[in-house]
Amino acid sequence: MKDFQRVLDTINETSNNAVERGTIANYIPELAKIDMQKFGIHLIDIGQHHFSAGKGAERFSIQSISKVLTLSMALGLIGENIWERIDVEPSGDPFNHLSLLELENGIPRNPLINPGAIVVADILVSQLADPKKEFLAFVRNIANDDSIDYDEDVAQSERRTGFRNYAAANLLKSYGNLKNDVDIVLDFYFHQCSLSMSCEQLANTFFMFINRGNCRRGNTFLTMGQVKRINALMLTCGFYDESGEFAFEVGLPGKSGVGGGIVALLPNKFCVATWSPGLNKKGNSKLGMLALERLTTETELSIF
Ligand code: GLN
Repeated sequence: MKDFQRVLDTINETSNNAVERGTIANYIPELAKIDMQKFGIHLIDIGQHHFSAGKGAERFSIQSISKVLTLSMALGLIGENIWERIDVEPSGDPFNHLSLLELENGIPRNPLINPGAIVVADILVSQLADPKKEFLAFVRNIANDDSIDYDEDVAQSERRTGFRNYAAANLLKSYGNLKNDVDIVLDFYFHQCSLSMSCEQLANTFFMFINRGNCRRGNTFLTMGQVKRINALMLTCGFYDESGEFAFEVGLPGKSGVGGGIVALLPNKFCVATWSPGLNKKGNSKLGMLALERLTTETELSIF
């Protein structure tokens, strides 16, 4: 076993001393209240050994990391039919970009940018009797943790300022690629993004992507084929127009959120989550990216 704890401790120390920490996502006012100085990291290996440093147990808003979890639930419900409404190509554009949607007849480029995730949200709203409650139960079940919950203040804060997401949803609606009411779909979307989880809870949840679709208790949530597809999407699309850079620097499938969280994983080996609220210009956690680059360089563990 690699000496993960030593590497995490060094990363934590370097991150705590960092001067350049990026900028916080203030377009969601509630997120702008978070202390920029915080840094956390948590790693779980395939043998379910845990390694943690800094604020690895403190909860934060997972934001776009939730897109991987809604996609997982939707794939379980409607299977490959999902690809009739969403493509699987990297966008090379920011997470909230709309022009590609306009060009491609309302088919979002992939499920990990906002328009794609809004279509996934629409699918869940169509499929589930009580979407918010059932999605939360799905995440709690995978994580084996009933304390996971939405942050209502964050959800309402984004609802008040989510103008671009309203634009995306309306554009999708105009193309017929949104079946339900815009407000209902976005209410679900803002709630999924508001999920409040720690690095430890994220690592526990994403364990199934390193363990052939099986959660820590051994229950199967995804087929191996679905895990392959989702991990491929995380590698090619998980960091918007910085996905190439993330593959180049870190070399792992992963997903970021504007709350400053990043999850990354190496199938059959480990899953790691980092948190630092300051973002770089592409909307990905500045210190989180540096931390993961260091982790894969020092341990020599990446998919490449
Ligand atoms: N809720 C955020 C939004 O839709 C999520 C974006 C992100 O984390 N990149 O703008």
